[in-house]
Amino acid sequence: MKLEGIHHITAITENAQRNVDFYAGVMGLRLVKKTVNQDNPTVYHLFFADEAGDAGSDLTFFEYPGAAPGRPGAGMVHRIVWRVASEAALDFWAERLRANDTESERDGDSLVFSDPEGLEHELLVVEVPDQPLIADHPEVPGEVALQGFHAVRAYSPSPAASERLLEALEFERTDGGWEARGEQRGGFYIYDEAPPERGIQGAGSVHHVAWASTPEELLDWREKAVSGGAQPTPEIDRFYFRSIYFREPSGVLFEIATLGPGFTVDEPVESLGEKLSLPPDFEHLREEVEPNLRPVVNPRVKAQG
Ligand code: ZN
Repeated sequence: MKLEGIHHITAITENAQRNVDFYAGVMGLRLVKKTVNQDNPTVYHLFFADEAGDAGSDLTFFEYPGAAPGRPGAGMVHRIVWRVASEAALDFWAERLRANDTESERDGDSLVFSDPEGLEHELLVVEVPDQPLIADHPEVPGEVALQGFHAVRAYSPSPAASERLLEALEFERTDGGWEARGEQRGGFYIYDEAPPERGIQGAGSVHHVAWASTPEELLDWREKAVSGGAQPTPEIDRFYFRSIYFREPSGVLFEIATLGPGFTVDEPVESLGEKLSLPPDFEHLREEVEPNLRPVVNPRVKAQG
């Protein structure tokens, strides 16, 4: 029993429109679900992913208008690492980011940059057997497109304190980090030395990272987390997947989420993300919440007319 790599990564944005412009417009991801934060249904929860909305490529944001800028510190994920196919892809992205007022730093097979709110990304040329998870974008050829998550890097003051839990969760120790590799996909969890300043959970910071489980194994993972010393929540039905949550000893919030039922459970794959989707338990709030959400224009839909 192994976790199937990273399921999704959730961060915070202050401005949904700027966020959509960057991730669906510049980065070429597909906005696959526009819904509300189920723990606070007055704010957006936006999901960007590949064309099919697959776990493994799914970057999500809570919109908190007016949120102060965040800053990663101990116990926080500070960098999201994406797979790309080639060094030519890094050339493409360095140029495309520059044309969109985003500076990047190239170091061999890696390109590092931040989104407009300071959330750090790395594009890394890797060779893995996993299926590339790619979105269609008229300006981003498939051979240079983002292919899904490779890793998250987190700041920990004491990586040794997390060993017991990560081992209980069947992560394998690798050169410089940990890997969760299942039958379909793998993903890495890497610690870096924490900066002295305290982290701030604000705009442009990562809220949590979710690891993928088969639907059948979620409660087994919950038991493994308990055996590793964590205090997981009960299983929570998020409608698009089921989840448990717990903090790992560094302070990073972990989620384990099921592969499925997925984003096509309430809208067809052709029109994913175009309207505000409210899970059945939240549908009665539509008249209340929809007028308070600042409308967002998806640049991809606009480009297609
Ligand atoms: Zn989550």
